[in-house]
Amino acid sequence: METIVAIEEKIMSNVTFKTDECKGCELCVNACPKGIIKLGENIINARGFRPAGVTNMEDCIGCAFCALMCPDVVIDVEK
Ligand code: SF4
Ligand code: SF4
Repeated sequence: METIVAIEEKIMSNVTFKTDECKGCELCVNACPKGIIKLGENIINARGFRPAGVTNMEDCIGCAFCALMCPDVVIDVEK
């Protein structure tokens, strides 16, 4: 039963970024306890920065530390 609950929580968490508003400061990268946020390797956004994004959404625990840390309110976490 605990396993089923854990799977449901993972499926329900979704993290989205307003990519063109990111300034690549990496505060969210350092805040994520799962280490699943990285700056894009081959992408430059409208502000001229490498924007952050989640690499393994299935590992997200929906803690929202990333969204709380972002100074530009770029990140939205849905559970
Ligand atoms: S919600 Fe938590 S686990 Fe998910 S990407 Fe943000 S900081 Fe990482
Ligand atoms: S904290 Fe916000 S502005 Fe900074 S890299 Fe993350 S999403 Fe971009």
